[in-house]
Amino acid sequence: MGYLKILVIGEIGSGKSSIVYRLAYNSFTEKYKATIGCEFGMKSFCIDGDEIKVQLWDLAGQDRLNLVSRVYCRDASGAIVVADLNDRESMQKAPLWKRSVDENISGADGNSIPMILCLNKVDLVHQDKPSESTLRELANQHGFLNAFCTSAKTGENIEEALEYLIRSVKDRIIKTMCATESILLNLEDHTKKLESRRSKKCCS
Ligand code: GDP
Ligand code: MG
Repeated sequence: MGYLKILVIGEIGSGKSSIVYRLAYNSFTEKYKATIGCEFGMKSFCIDGDEIKVQLWDLAGQDRLNLVSRVYCRDASGAIVVADLNDRESMQKAPLWKRSVDENISGADGNSIPMILCLNKVDLVHQDKPSESTLRELANQHGFLNAFCTSAKTGENIEEALEYLIRSVKDRIIKTMCATESILLNLEDHTKKLESRRSKKCCS
């Protein structure tokens, strides 16, 4: 497997660049630096003995929802939608970010690509953190595979969230490959039958 392209999207200030920075360099900075253009972060995972390299695409902060383009989405295997848990608007916009990707891309099997929701800056929440069941409900309601409370600042759940997404992407690739293989085997079988029927006709 080469690189997997994973999109990191969401409202400005939700912590997208900080999450990519945490994953790529295991580090965090409080200093706000608006992302210009598109930045990349690389991360390698070892999953069930396979080394998987992930290329994280961090969309420019100033881009708006309606500017998530087909070019940006091309060949993406999955996406992380980031929302600031302490910012109502950032939370409300998360499903719209998901939909903007759904409108631009579908995987090889024609379904939407796997996406998870990261409710970031959980280190700033001291009471009423969303429970596991609330997170699951939120994910189900909006078509995410799962939702996680994360903190780029402390690193809480950041690797876990990405690993979950990568496992789902891997499972999906394997399923697509198996489906393709079975189509090819059927085709091969069918061709053999046709050939044998044709050769019988020739002999008679
Ligand atoms: P982006 O616009 O989505 O890329 O957001 P940034 O990664 O630039 O983060 C915006 C601001 O939030 C910066 O000042 C970060 O230091 C801060 N920030 C990002 N993630 C966290 C987090 O998990 N916890 C806290 N406390 N601050 C964060
Ligand atoms: Mg940024």
